[in-house]
Amino acid sequence: MMQLYGSIELLTGYASRTQQARRISEDWVARHAYCLRCESGELTPTPANTETCDFVCPQCDHGYELKSKCGAFTTRVVDGAYGAMLRTIRANRTPTFLLLEYSRDWSITGFTAIHHSLITESSIVARKPLAATARRAGWVGCSIVMPEIAVDGKIPIIINERIEPPAQVRGSFRKLESLSQLSHERRNWAAIMLNLIRKLPEDSFKLSDVYKFEDQLKLIFPGNNNVKPKIRQQLQVLRDAGILTFLGGGKYRFARYK
Ligand SMILES: [Zn+2]
Repeated sequence: MMQLYGSIELLTGYASRTQQARRISEDWVARHAYCLRCESGELTPTPANTETCDFVCPQCDHGYELKSKCGAFTTRVVDGAYGAMLRTIRANRTPTFLLLEYSRDWSITGFTAIHHSLITESSIVARKPLAATARRAGWVGCSIVMPEIAVDGKIPIIINERIEPPAQVRGSFRKLESLSQLSHERRNWAAIMLNLIRKLPEDSFKLSDVYKFEDQLKLIFPGNNNVKPKIRQQLQVLRDAGILTFLGGGKYRFARYK
């Protein structure tokens, strides 16, 4: 049974709140988290300092990166080195992010997965290099920009202290899994398109509605002069991934999942 509190007996010996938080959250995930990609009921911690991966599934080998925070995550999730994250994304080895939220008294208030398929070059930004006076002067970290990730990719495992059924969580995860087969460039386009069309007011929409994003897409991809054909191609990509259904006559809707 998933317990909604951290093991405070682990706090002994850790002076700083940051170290305590890391110890408690890693322990909680090791005891309670499960794989979203397969049926494995556990995740294994990776050796310390493994690049962009804190846990791995012992059955399907999928990687997970843990971020934890006292209180709620907001629009930016601070991550590790920018260069390492870019390399990971370009090599199609992006981990799924696990966002763990806890209260001052170490009870777990929220736990959300960010699907690896939607973490792309466009959803991360470089942070300011560390100052010349810092121990790691010039080091550049990155942040995940949450509004750049479509709602489909933010999968609640615990929300408002309520535990979601694992079958439902894995079902939501599975819907996006086929996007992970795409090259990182195509995945980037697909992730951006999905995020844009999720902003449309209805679940069904017309091609002309999607064309309204043309100017916005030109700003994101300044080298691309064929944005309209690219939009149509991306709608096909999202259809082939099982996310959209084509209704004919330039009409589309989000697929209804079983
Ligand atoms: Zn697995």
